[in-house]
Amino acid sequence: MLLDLNGKNALVTGIANNRSIAWGIAQQLHQAGANLGITYLPDEKGRFEAKVRELTAPLSPSLFLPMDVQDPAQMEAVFQTLASQWHQLDILIHCLAFANKADLVGDFSNTTAEGFRTAMDISTYSLTSLCRLAKPLFSEGASVITLTYLGAERAVPNYNIMGLAKAALEASVRYLAAELGPEKQVRVNAISAGPIRTLASSAVGGILQMIHHVEEKAPLRRTVTQQEVGNTAAFLASPLASGISGQVLYVDGGYCITGL
Ligand code: NDP
Repeated sequence: MLLDLNGKNALVTGIANNRSIAWGIAQQLHQAGANLGITYLPDEKGRFEAKVRELTAPLSPSLFLPMDVQDPAQMEAVFQTLASQWHQLDILIHCLAFANKADLVGDFSNTTAEGFRTAMDISTYSLTSLCRLAKPLFSEGASVITLTYLGAERAVPNYNIMGLAKAALEASVRYLAAELGPEKQVRVNAISAGPIRTLASSAVGGILQMIHHVEEKAPLRRTVTQQEVGNTAAFLASPLASGISGQVLYVDGGYCITGL
């Protein structure tokens, strides 16, 4: 069986620029034949919209919509549009996260209550909200994919509150997989990517050192690319992965198996 996503509707969140992991995923889904819907985080001057629209134009998305996951009305509007224009959703890509920069450096115990709530709300609860809204639209065998990081299970320096957000995200994957599987064979999985230079990762203190460390220690002696994460997402989205649900799949050059 070949990887074929022709006729599949895929909603991709989290493209900020050409370094975004979501951009790598969108490209690979498009290459496999999927019909794309892209959401972007709107700002007052419309700069993000213009940038993401220009970047994604070659992939000819059939939907291009604003969605701030802290705005429930905007999220509902996205799914109303999906219901009226696509009628069903086959692939949902959750590829977004946020924490205050001050909470991504130094002592973890300094995390503020507000910073804790913000990181959890945007990075973790948004997956649950998206799945609740998508539930009536999921097709038989639909696939939900989110992005996580090793900091969910190990105390990675400076990752701090985002480690908690990712641990809760990975638990959400298991609970959502248990809920959504029985009726329509909907699968929910996470990809745990190795460190990649992006806008979001640049907010994490010492990210370059972490990348160099991985280049020295990972079995493959390198970090991974957005395209490699995208290929794994395309696989997980396809019927080739029809038996995989509730899992965290590592795309990290093998780093997580080392004792370092
Ligand atoms: P990017 O900065 O490219 O992507 C993060 C995205 O989240 C951006 O598009 C950002 O929008 C969006 N976002 C932030 N707040 C909101 C919000 N309130 N509503 C909607 N969207 C929002 O970074 P990455 O590609 O690195 O991150 C993608 C995912 O991959 C994240 O979950 C991240 O934790 C995960 N990951 C990243 C790794 C890495 O090393 N880069 C490693 C493992 C996992 P905008 O930029 O416009 O604010």
